Amino acid sequence: MLTGALDASISGIIITDHQQPDNPIIYCNKSFEDITGYTRSEIIGHNCRFLQQEDRNQPARETLFNAIKEGGKCVVEIRNYKKDGTLFWNELYMSPITDENGNVLFFIGVQNDVTRRKLAEEELQSDKKKMEQRIEERTQSLRESEEYLASIVQTVRESLIVLSPNLKVLSVNSHFIKTFKVSREETEGKLLYDLGNGQWNIPELKKLLEKILPTNNPIIDFEVSHDFPHIGKKLMLLNAHRIELEGQYKDRILIAIEDITERRAIEQRKDDFLSIASHELKTPLTTIKGYIQIIGRLTADIQNEKLKGAVEKTTTYVERLNNLISELLDVSRIQSGNIELHKVPFDFDAAVADAVENLQQAGHSHKITVTGKTGCTFNGDESHITQVITNLLSNAIKYSPNHQTVGVHLSVVSDYIKCAITDNGVGIPRDEQPKIFDRFYRVGSTQQRFPGMGIGLYICAEIIRNHEGSIWVESEPGKGSVFSFTLPLSEQKGAQDAR
Ligand code: ADP
Repeated sequence: MLTGALDASISGIIITDHQQPDNPIIYCNKSFEDITGYTRSEIIGHNCRFLQQEDRNQPARETLFNAIKEGGKCVVEIRNYKKDGTLFWNELYMSPITDENGNVLFFIGVQNDVTRRKLAEEELQSDKKKMEQRIEERTQSLRESEEYLASIVQTVRESLIVLSPNLKVLSVNSHFIKTFKVSREETEGKLLYDLGNGQWNIPELKKLLEKILPTNNPIIDFEVSHDFPHIGKKLMLLNAHRIELEGQYKDRILIAIEDITERRAIEQRKDDFLSIASHELKTPLTTIKGYIQIIGRLTADIQNEKLKGAVEKTTTYVERLNNLISELLDVSRIQSGNIELHKVPFDFDAAVADAVENLQQAGHSHKITVTGKTGCTFNGDESHITQVITNLLSNAIKYSPNHQTVGVHLSVVSDYIKCAITDNGVGIPRDEQPKIFDRFYRVGSTQQRFPGMGIGLYICAEIIRNHEGSIWVESEPGKGSVFSFTLPLSEQKGAQDAR
């Protein structure tokens, strides 16, 4: 019955005889045969070591050896090999059987195949190792990217400040320290408005900064001019944003300060040069213009076609040069704010008709067609408004060389006069449309083909702005453009009568 019970066990059981040399196995149950793949006749009489085959160098063997030597118990997990050579992990419990004097007679070994558990443990261990390695790598790369970013922040040629929600300075970069000749100690941790004798305590800036966090509205290109104690007067461009990251960095404000003092001074010198040069050119040109007129009169009776042609050409080119210089002078007047408006009520439709007639008479091949009417007397500077219409019409003609017509449409929309000038010419790419009203801006793709300086539309926009109106363009490359402007009739003397 006992043997049957042992055979029914799912653990492999063996008994070894300690009294015989080399401790041979004298009993094994059925499960032991199943676990090892050996038959009883291949097991009985052997020392257990045959199960380790060549894999002798295991610490578990040492533990077993010592237990046997001392006649004690032990539990080990040992790598064993089945008859077919497959590895299995054996959880071996070994215990001695002694006589009444305590002499060891036998050892009983109970074994279980724990390969699956062991492999799972090993896998877990290796996953853990891999995970730790990945965390280590990730931490390292985070550290590196943090250092990388920090080095960029420290190197940029723009001053940067990070503020807490209550506008205390959390950190500044090296450029800030250098530019404002302050130390980190007297800056970081301080309230922005308390820095350097309240030099940043600028009411308008304060209002904007206090709105950034609640409204999430950034400050863009805010110009500040300030006389700083150690560095003198500075003109700065400020941009401030809420730092968008969630977690520990949220609700901070990053301010970037660009020192534009030098840039503005250079721009001013350029503007001064433009103004002086155009003035200096205008005087001799006026004299030349006068002499050409005299020559024209003096040679009127001489029957010489060549001479007549030369005088006419010279008159045309002098006129063109005169217009160019006048435009340059207009630009420098706009720049210095010296533009003078002579506002007198005038018949808007008649002004348009005059401008159209002048252009037609100048011999342009295009036919300009006027449709609609405003029927309004507009109170404004007639010569300036005529300049806008002439400029827009000249552009419409210039930029539609393969077409013969240009349209002008006049209307009254609500309490505004509207004038729209349409051509079927080269058109303007969408991304360049907002820029064409900038000073000296010319569309890249067409500037080689058409002469010009890129100031006509800038002057138009300024004139319309001075009359509280607006000017815009709608255009499609290859199809043409519509330049429109509106002028307000409200607050105009006699506007109601005019309509
Ligand atoms: P300019 O004609 O002397 O270059 P403007 O200030 O009048 O200067 O115009 C600026 C730019 O806008 C032009 O260089 C041209 O590229 C573009 N532009 C103006 N009017 C038109 C138009 N009717 N059709 C296409 N492009 C135009």
